[in-house]
Amino acid sequence: MKILVAVKRVVDYAVKVRVKPDRTGVETASVKMSMNPFCEIAVEEALRLREAGAASEVVAATVGPSQSADTLRTALAMGADRAIHVLHDPDPARPLLPLAVAKILHALALQEKPGLLILGKQAIDDDCNQTGQMLAGLLNWPQGTFASKVILDKEKATVEREVDGGIETICLDLPAVITTDLRLNQPRYATLPNIMKAKSKVIKKVTPEDLNVDIRSDMEVVQVTEPPKRKAGVILSSVDELIDKLKNEARVL
Ligand code: AMP
Repeated sequence: MKILVAVKRVVDYAVKVRVKPDRTGVETASVKMSMNPFCEIAVEEALRLREAGAASEVVAATVGPSQSADTLRTALAMGADRAIHVLHDPDPARPLLPLAVAKILHALALQEKPGLLILGKQAIDDDCNQTGQMLAGLLNWPQGTFASKVILDKEKATVEREVDGGIETICLDLPAVITTDLRLNQPRYATLPNIMKAKSKVIKKVTPEDLNVDIRSDMEVVQVTEPPKRKAGVILSSVDELIDKLKNEARVL
């Protein structure tokens, strides 16, 4: 069985995001970009399933500009067998929406016919948490979102998901879509020999037009602004002073 994993290139989680002076978006030039952390977890899970003998091939796919090839190389260095790059240069005012990505992944799924599609539960740049669900809807496949454990047998996937007050266990008929939560696994680091090996693995390039997908966006970003600066705090000399302020200034007591 083949597993298709969707990986997105985002501003690295450790970078302090800055808004561009013209307020059209966030600064990405000369900023460290990395694979979305939930997508790393998705790649790791696919690799573990292949290593356990439950899958035979792991294919990584991304939609993005030419620089997104770095993200695919990372997936290949982690151990993915091959990759597909859907080239799209985004216009900051008309970003690619989750529905457009879902339509592209839908077209890839029809071509590649994977038994399982794994996505991150959310991209840390847009925080949408929509693509996996929309993709499952378009494919009419069952979905296991926010997975914290995945067990595969030939025709079924058992998925544990953390819900309020406990763990829900669901059983999905394959093919299915799974989105990864933080506790699913700890992604591996790519070793130097695997980074070298990844250079010779195949990245197939296609465009949304090749896939017959219309990615026009009906949403326009009007402005991006920094959150308001927090006011400086005050240091109080005693608990009595604190209680007085809470009572008479904040009026919360
Ligand atoms: P989102 O719905 O935008 O929060 O993204 C959820 C997941 O969808 C991500 O973790 C990826 O697995 C996938 N995804 C979103 N955008 C892309 C993209 N441009 N290329 C590949 N996968 C994507």
